[in-house]
Amino acid sequence: MKRVRNALLRWYDAERRDLPWRRTRDPYAIWISETMLQQTRVETVIPYYERFLKRFPNVDTLAAADMDDVLGAWAGLGYYSRARNLKTAAQALVDTHRGRLPEDAEGLRRLPGIGRYTAGAVASIAFDQPEPVVDGNVARVLSRLLGIREDISRPAVLRRFWQEASELAAGPRPGDLNQALMELGARVCVSGEPHCEECPLASPCDAKRLGDAATLPIKRPKLPARRVEAAAAWVVRRGRVLAVRRPPEGLLGGLWELPGGELASHEDPAAGLQRSLRERVGLAVSRPEYVGTVQHVFTHRRLRLHVFRSDPPSGRTRLEGFDAHRWLAPRALRELPHGAVTRKVLALLDESPAPRPGRIP
Ligand code: SF4
Repeated sequence: MKRVRNALLRWYDAERRDLPWRRTRDPYAIWISETMLQQTRVETVIPYYERFLKRFPNVDTLAAADMDDVLGAWAGLGYYSRARNLKTAAQALVDTHRGRLPEDAEGLRRLPGIGRYTAGAVASIAFDQPEPVVDGNVARVLSRLLGIREDISRPAVLRRFWQEASELAAGPRPGDLNQALMELGARVCVSGEPHCEECPLASPCDAKRLGDAATLPIKRPKLPARRVEAAAAWVVRRGRVLAVRRPPEGLLGGLWELPGGELASHEDPAAGLQRSLRERVGLAVSRPEYVGTVQHVFTHRRLRLHVFRSDPPSGRTRLEGFDAHRWLAPRALRELPHGAVTRKVLALLDESPAPRPGRIP
């Protein structure tokens, strides 16, 4: 362990990337960066991180912010529950910790949205606590280095990763050590064929010795993403367009979008749209005009969303499955927090200003 630790720290000192969150010891900034970095690439995170910190520079400003503003600053980064949890946790910190983050992993884990990984990262990087982190990169490095040839999703195997990472972190500079492991996994011990010739751990590495690094870590095959067909419409009444907000929990929670819903199996998109508008917003439309179809891939589903413009609806707005609605000036939806699918829908509508008939592909 000592040999591995020293080799990792030497490599990190020479090779570390100059990233914005590595120029600070501010626990708040490190917390924001670690939250953004979950399931998201470094290059994507940098501009979001810089804008977010400019807008909400500390726990107090984030706690006092409107949830819509926080979601707006997050828009495009995905996994929106992370943003909602940040804001809720900031409020809890102001209420119970005078706006300061706890220094220990246990205290951090009591906050909404902070799991074992984020707690370990913040405690070690911001507060020099000997706490481990295990993410996908760390699991890949450890499985190859130590020759762990078992399904990494099994709880016992996962426990072993945390145990090994704990032993590594129980030395000098735990924050740098953790970042070195993650950085090595991101740049050298990459998935597929790793760059063993550049690796500081080549000599003790078990997978390098046996030549099976590309097959590690062992993962259960992923289930294929479920295909979902849905329809949504630009519904205008007296010059104002209807936008609806998803409830806070679940996929795209708290974000605004155009009304619509999933189609039943083999359902005609125009008929499915009319049914969804009736059931979910209480409105009847008679002649929806097809505009086009946008596609989007989520982690577990592939969405095909058929987009329509509707004639003026009849009925009173009554929500089912949404938690708010607004009749907006046509461009105002862009100002509300919305996700990547709605961005694609608005771009499609911009490209097709006049209703045009057509076959749905
Ligand atoms: Fe990964 Fe190769 Fe380094 Fe082993 S030697 S840790 S397989 S990059």
